[in-house]
Amino acid sequence: MVVIFGTLGIALLCSVSGITLAAKNPLHARDDACRALAAALAGDVAYPNTTSYLQSADYWSLQQLETQPRCFVAPKSTKEVSTILRVLTEGDWPFTVKGGGHMPFSGGSSIENGVTIDLVHLNDIKVSSDRRSVSVGPGNRWINVTEILDPMGLGVVGGRDMNVGVSGLTLGGGISFFSGMYGWACDNVRRYEVVLASGRIVNATPTENKDLYWALRGGGGSNFGIVTRFDLVIFDQGEVWENGLSFPGSSNATVISHFQNLTIHGMPSDKGATGFVGINYHSSTGGYSADVGLVHATVPSSPGSIPAVFEPFQKVPSATANSTITGTVSNFITSIATPYGRRWTWGNVVVSASFPGKFITEIMSLFESHNVALLQNEGGDDISLTALFQPIPVNLIEAMQKNGGNAMGLKPSNGALIMISFPTSWTEAKNDELAYSATRKLIADIEAKAIEYKVHTPFVYMNYADIKQEVQKGYGKENYARLVSIARKYDPQAKLSHLWKGYFKLQYL
Ligand SMILES: Cc1cc2nc3c(=O)[nH]c(=O)nc-3n(C[C@H](O)[C@H](O)[C@H](O)COP(=O)(O)OP(=O)(O)OC[C@H]3O[C@@H](n4cnc5c(N)ncnc54)[C@H](O)[C@@H]3O)c2cc1C
Repeated sequence: MVVIFGTLGIALLCSVSGITLAAKNPLHARDDACRALAAALAGDVAYPNTTSYLQSADYWSLQQLETQPRCFVAPKSTKEVSTILRVLTEGDWPFTVKGGGHMPFSGGSSIENGVTIDLVHLNDIKVSSDRRSVSVGPGNRWINVTEILDPMGLGVVGGRDMNVGVSGLTLGGGISFFSGMYGWACDNVRRYEVVLASGRIVNATPTENKDLYWALRGGGGSNFGIVTRFDLVIFDQGEVWENGLSFPGSSNATVISHFQNLTIHGMPSDKGATGFVGINYHSSTGGYSADVGLVHATVPSSPGSIPAVFEPFQKVPSATANSTITGTVSNFITSIATPYGRRWTWGNVVVSASFPGKFITEIMSLFESHNVALLQNEGGDDISLTALFQPIPVNLIEAMQKNGGNAMGLKPSNGALIMISFPTSWTEAKNDELAYSATRKLIADIEAKAIEYKVHTPFVYMNYADIKQEVQKGYGKENYARLVSIARKYDPQAKLSHLWKGYFKLQYL
C-alpha cells in the first residue's frame, strides 16, 4: 500500500501543479515546502522538538500555541523574506506570517501543518538623524521601540501592551495613548517596505505606490504582502499620566454616561486625553465592577491635580479605588501587559457615541445574561468576562484623514464613535466552542440592539475582531472594491489570497 501511494505521489509530482499535489498528499507536500525553504536559505528552518521551533512558538493565546506548523522559517533579511515568498508562492504551499503573535484565535498567525514565517529576527530599530521618524523591523514588540525612544524624549503612536507586535497592531489600525492627537498607528506610517507575492520588494509611501500605502493602513497585511520595515512618525513626548478608578457594577450606567460625554465633548477639546471603561465580572463575588483608565499625554503641572476633562469621574460616588500614576511609556506598557497562557476570544461592535441611556441598560443586561449562560455551563473553569468601551472621538477620526486617509472609511461626519469589545478568557479546551458561540451570539444581539436604537455602524475594528466578523466589508462597499482591486494589482494570481491562511481575507479569485 505504502509503495503504491509513494509511486502515485511521484507520478503526480511529475504531472500536476504543486497545489493539486498539496490537495492529494498535503503532509508530504508541506514537508517539501520546508525542505525547499531549507535548501534556499541554508538554515533558518526549524522543525518540531527543536529549540528554535519552541522559541518561534511564542504565542499569547493557548489556541495559537496549540496550532502547530510543519516548520517555522525565520528570515534574517528582507532579501530572505523575498526568497521565502517566491519559494512558497511558486510551490503553492500554504503559509502564514507571525509578528508579535498576539492575535488570539487559532490561525491568527499560526497554521496547522503549514509553514509559519516568523519575523522575529527582523528587529532593527533606527531613529532618523532629524529625530522625525523611526525605522522599525516587523519582528519588534512595542517595548523594544519605547525603550529606545523614552530616554530620547520621543514618542510613537504605538501599542499599550509591551509584548504586542508592531506589525499586526499597525497593519490593523493601532489604538494608542496618543491617538487623539495623531490618529491610529497606521495613520503615522511614513513608509512601508513590502515584499509582494512575487518576491518583488517595493516601498509604499504617500507618493510611491500610493494605492498600496492606502490599503496597508487598516487593510491588514495578509492580502498585500509581508511588511519588512515600518518608518513611523515620532514626536516629542515626556512622561504620561493615568488616573485609575474602580466603581461597583451598580455605577455602570453613570460611568458609561460620563465616558460618552468625554468621547463626544471632552476629547476634542483636549486631544491629549484618552481612556477606556471595562465592565468586569468577578467570580469571587459573582458581581461586577466598572473600571476606568483615564490617560493624558501631558502630566498635570501641579502635583495631585486632575485634568479638567476628567473631573466628572471624580464626582461619581462610591469609588472603591482612585489612584494616579505618572511614568514613561515603557513603564505604562509594562505594567499593563496581559499575561500569556490562557484561552481567549473577542469581537467588537462600534456604535455612535450618542446612544441613549436605555441602550446601555439593555446591552448591559444582554452582557449579564450572556455571562450567566456561560457560567452555568463551563463546569468549574476559571472564566473571565469583560465588556470594554474604547473611544473613537471626532478629533481622532480627523487625524485619520491625513495622507489621503486610510482604508477603514471612518469620516468626521460619522460623529464620535465608541467601540465595545468583549474579551473572554478561560483555561480548558473543552469550553472553546461554548465561549466562541456565546460571544458570537452576544455580538449579534448587541448589533441587533444597535440597529434598533439607530446607533449601529458597519465598522468593525480588525485588531479586536472575531475571525467570523467580515471586517473589510465594514469599511464600506467602495473601500472594499478598492482594496480588492489593489490586491489584484499587486498579486495578479491571487497567491496570497489562496496560500496565506487565516485572518481577515478579501474574498476574490
Ligand atoms: C494583550 C493585548 C493588548 C493589545 N493592545 C492593543 C492596543 O493597545 N491597541 C490596539 O490597537 N490593539 C491592541 N491589541 C490587539 C493587537 O493589535 C492585535 O492582536 C495585533 O494583531 C497584534 O499584532 P501582532 O504582531 O502581535 O500579531 P500577530 O498575531 O503576529 O499577527 C496578526 C496578523 O498580522 C499579520 N502580520 C504579522 N506581521 C506581518 C507583516 N510584517 N506583514 C504582513 N502581515 C503581518 C499576521 O499574519 C496576522 O494575520 C492587543 C492585543 C493583546 C492580546
